[in-house]
Amino acid sequence: METGYNRNVEAFREAEYPMLKDAVYLDHAGTTLYSKSLMERFTADMMGNLFGNPHSASGSSQLSTDRIEDIRLKTLRFFNADPDEFDLIFMANATAGIKLVMEALRECDGGYNYGYHRDAHTSLIGVRENAVSSRCLVDTDVECWLSGKESFVDEDTNSKINLFAYPAQSNMDGRRLPLSWASRTRQTNNSAHTTYTLLDASAFVSTAQLNLGDASRAPDFTVLSFYKMFGFPDLGALIVRKESGAILQERRYFGGGTVDLVLCIKEQWHVPKAQALHESLEDGTLPFHNILALDAAIATHKHLYGTMNQISKHTAFLARRLYDGLAALRHANSRPVCVMHSDGFSSTSALDLQGPIIAFNLKNSHGAWVSNTEFEKLAAVRKFHIRSGGLCNPGGVAACLNLEPWEMRRNFSSGFKCGTEADISGGKITGVMRASVGAMSTKSDVDAFISFVEEFYCEMIASPSETQVSVIPSQGHLFVDSLTIYPIKSCGGLEIPSDTDWEVRPEGLAWDREWCLVHRGTGQALSQKRHARMALIRPMIDFERGLLHVRYHGTLPSGLPKEISIPLSENPAFYSGVEGSRSISSRVCGEAVVTRMYGKKEVNKFFSEILGVSCVLARFPAGGSGFSTRHAKAHMQKHQRPKAISEPELPGAFPAPPTPPDSDSEVRKRPILLSNESPILAINKASLDALNEEITRSGGKPAAASVFRANVVLSPGKLERQSPYSEDHWTSLRIGSQNFQMLGSCRRCHMICVDQDNAEKNEEPFVTLAKTRRFESKIFFGSHMCHVPSKELTKEGQYPTIRVGDVVTVEG
Ligand SMILES: *Cc1c(COP(=O)(O)O)cnc(C)c1O
Repeated sequence: METGYNRNVEAFREAEYPMLKDAVYLDHAGTTLYSKSLMERFTADMMGNLFGNPHSASGSSQLSTDRIEDIRLKTLRFFNADPDEFDLIFMANATAGIKLVMEALRECDGGYNYGYHRDAHTSLIGVRENAVSSRCLVDTDVECWLSGKESFVDEDTNSKINLFAYPAQSNMDGRRLPLSWASRTRQTNNSAHTTYTLLDASAFVSTAQLNLGDASRAPDFTVLSFYKMFGFPDLGALIVRKESGAILQERRYFGGGTVDLVLCIKEQWHVPKAQALHESLEDGTLPFHNILALDAAIATHKHLYGTMNQISKHTAFLARRLYDGLAALRHANSRPVCVMHSDGFSSTSALDLQGPIIAFNLKNSHGAWVSNTEFEKLAAVRKFHIRSGGLCNPGGVAACLNLEPWEMRRNFSSGFKCGTEADISGGKITGVMRASVGAMSTKSDVDAFISFVEEFYCEMIASPSETQVSVIPSQGHLFVDSLTIYPIKSCGGLEIPSDTDWEVRPEGLAWDREWCLVHRGTGQALSQKRHARMALIRPMIDFERGLLHVRYHGTLPSGLPKEISIPLSENPAFYSGVEGSRSISSRVCGEAVVTRMYGKKEVNKFFSEILGVSCVLARFPAGGSGFSTRHAKAHMQKHQRPKAISEPELPGAFPAPPTPPDSDSEVRKRPILLSNESPILAINKASLDALNEEITRSGGKPAAASVFRANVVLSPGKLERQSPYSEDHWTSLRIGSQNFQMLGSCRRCHMICVDQDNAEKNEEPFVTLAKTRRFESKIFFGSHMCHVPSKELTKEGQYPTIRVGDVVTVEG
């Protein structure tokens, strides 16, 4: 049975949404997608008419004004709202509508009391900051208050005005809240108190029909964003029940467009526009092109999808399929793979209680959380578009993950913030994953996602960490196969010729990551993750002339020189021809460092034009700028700990469960961290060969060693047999006559998918690594290490070097 599923979508999907190509888009709660027809209709309207700034006398201006008023009515009609009962105020987005209500209410005598539901979006929560008192409510609180058992707020305030705000649908887990709360709220009004309702319909309207047909039962204020309904335009609205609209006139501010007359010399006086409510609230020039696009959006939407109710059924069918599919996934030991949060799906009358949004988390077969950010990385490589984290819904996320305020504060002070990497602390995960479907989603989108989760996250055999840990480390000989430095961070490598001794410094190989490219606006160091073309920017060092030459090995934008040169010397005297250089604080891998920017225009133009982003070349301070500038944080990972100290085995077929990562274990992992020394990155060809065998077996393209951007590639001698991944267990290395200490495995992101020869992106080796080298949901390949300086006063001690061909001895 496919009740409600709209097969037509499959027929027009490719033609109408060409941007989807092979992508699987499951973030309709973030924004849905605009259709080709919509964009074409909009363009035709723009090209076929002359639109002026509204509200003046010219024909072009009148045309804009007339169309805007038409569209205002059409939009009200879309929500079945009678224009005699409702007014619609165009806003930048839903948030702007919320703020407008707040701006008016805070001017009332005695201010306002504020109650907001726990499932509220952050944009609703902020309204509490201007309230005289505020309270976060759960369902039972709302019911208690609506049935008169409790007052709206706990404290006694002088205010007669209350504002009750809640989402029609949670943007976090898709729960639909009772629309009847609005009319029941109105019934509580008496001479002492008036409670206004603010309904946030942003998430709801994208896949459901908002029906304002009965004004007496409607919320006083309803906000929404149109991009969530149509994918375009970026525009929002505040729909006001006229009977309750007078309070909005309490707002003090006026702007161009909202007044009829303003006196400002000698007398200060103004006359607000009074004909229609929207006239006194729409400050400045309306976003009239966006409003015109809304006209096209409504028309194409109707043409493609019919009614909102049809979309509602279509998305409900898909969401149910997705929910059931994920909920059914089991590890071999029959533990569930997914922890599902969208509770509405457990009831049968799902349409009233549940929108097509699925919030969930993943667990491994031992019951430990899978990191959301790691899941997102892998999903991104496989072209799945989903959302993870706090989702701008702090109350909802905290409730479904049982996060206590003290835990959230602790997480915050230890560096967890919206959008940061680490997301598991004290055995709890700090965010959720969200997959949401929309009008143009199909069964194949949903099925592909379920298969993806199954393929990568269902553990059908003993977890890979166990297989790897049980490998007996081999302690045979290795050789240095190649040495590479990356003078400009994230740009092309420079291979050290085989007959050259290369200096090892406390901060790494000489001239490695000495420079970086920094975004002009944000100060962030650029990386291949976003700018794959950086791989084709290849530096060369010319010691004789004291210069770093840089060439671009792609198609050079016209007008750029073939090569630019930068002095190697840090001596300011050598910066001749450089129009000054200055220090700025920039961020490299999320850590603040002070770098010195080059002012020379040709240099920065060269990089900016090649990468298509405004950037400057910067140099790290002399002597290395510390650990963070070179590599991601290096420390021993759990999978590397010797088996002897790992947890005792549990009875049964499954290996010892890894303890859920907690803050204590973080500390235990770190004692060997030498924070002033930057590591050198080494990879082992034996491991690369093993990886490539796996990749070839599944039909993928083998990975070149260069994608791992190692400094040192180690290779077993011809007669040696090296176990792959034995480097996981090494504690120290001797290369030639130099000693190195191992600092831990290198955690990988999808940057290893960039082919360093042509800057093209591939799925491999990330996808296979994700299957074979994932530990605690992080992916590892290669090892960090640092040089251990010799105390002896020998030539080798004072000027330590290594070279290609050096013999490597391993201590396990
Ligand atoms: C998207 C969303 C918002 C915010 O909308 P903006 O367009 O960013 O103002 C608010 N609430 C809910 C429920 C949403 O889904």
